[in-house]
Amino acid sequence: MSFWRNQLAGPTNPAIDAAWEDPQPRKGFFTDTSICIGCKACEVACKEWNGVPEDGLDLLGQSYDNTGALGASTWRHVAFVEQTSDRIEQARESGRRLVELGMPTVRTADETLPSATTRSDAAAPGPSDQGIPDVRWLMASDVCKHCTHAACLDVCPTGALFRTEFSTVVVQDDVCNGCGYCVAACPFGVIERRSGHEGHESSGQSHGISIKGGAGSERSHQNPPSYAASNGEVKNVGIAQKCTLCYDRLGDGQTPACAKACPTTSIKFGDLDDMRATASERVGQLHDLGYTEARLYGADENDGVGGTGSVFLLLDEPEVYGLPPDPRVTTADLPDMFRKAGYAGLAMLGMAAAAFAGRRHP
Ligand code: SF4
Ligand code: SF4
Ligand code: SF4
Repeated sequence: MSFWRNQLAGPTNPAIDAAWEDPQPRKGFFTDTSICIGCKACEVACKEWNGVPEDGLDLLGQSYDNTGALGASTWRHVAFVEQTSDRIEQARESGRRLVELGMPTVRTADETLPSATTRSDAAAPGPSDQGIPDVRWLMASDVCKHCTHAACLDVCPTGALFRTEFSTVVVQDDVCNGCGYCVAACPFGVIERRSGHEGHESSGQSHGISIKGGAGSERSHQNPPSYAASNGEVKNVGIAQKCTLCYDRLGDGQTPACAKACPTTSIKFGDLDDMRATASERVGQLHDLGYTEARLYGADENDGVGGTGSVFLLLDEPEVYGLPPDPRVTTADLPDMFRKAGYAGLAMLGMAAAAFAGRRHP
């Protein structure tokens, strides 16, 4: 039973579920926002490699953020959040409560964190060990989560979205019909249809990713050419777009462009199991230093999307960064919906039977 439940929401191996004959170790990101300096090299490298159009260079009046959110032409978004000491104190307090509640980690039994009781001992480090600054900037590079249970992929009627052998989620530009179902389904608001003036794609050229076989066989992952014609027209207008976790680079054993460009190693890339272990170790390290506001996002395989392929270390509540606190894939609610529909059907049958049984004959 738990196998079938995990097909809808729990922990599972997405590449095996997608029937890849040669599934590869699941790949993913660990974005450690505690060492992000907001340089945006990741945004630029992503645009350059993937041919993603420019989407506005105006500052939004919200610190140094000029893109605001992820979208069809922003596959990496660096958030800038300014905070004063009051908010920082609240973040440390809420992080400490998470530890006391047994914050989900992926540590093995022999690597367990000191218990909450130990942490609150006088000898244990606490928020007071790290002075609260008057002001700080939180900087975080957001990206598609490559969910274990990807709502975008579940609802796509054309098969444009597919699960790769690395368990990532990729859109095939030339299969997407622009219906937009995936846009409404994504619990993170990641995927979006591209707007703009249609460009050279209308000529029938396709620069999407094409697959000729599984791992080890010949591939034709292409690096798409520059996004815009000299007249500023844009490719893939009306087509759903998002991060591919650089599927073409993965196919050649390379690191995704954003992780390669990040000068501080805030974006780490590798086997997802290693990423989760690194993330868990890092959050423990920060807690031991007294930064109790550090917490993981996406590392819990029992959350509403079965865990994500992009794991984050945050320094405040997810909402502060524009992330949903409890993302949930639609299929997670299917068993409950079917159960309720079944009860309703049985109740109606019962009422109908009672009506016939109680009918008086003249
Ligand atoms: S974050 Fe959204 S777009 Fe990315 S895989 Fe999950 S559901 Fe799909
Ligand atoms: S917009 Fe494209 S990728 Fe999204 S659900 Fe429709 S066909 Fe699939
Ligand atoms: S490249 Fe690295 S340090 Fe620079 S904004 Fe992106 S994640 Fe932060």
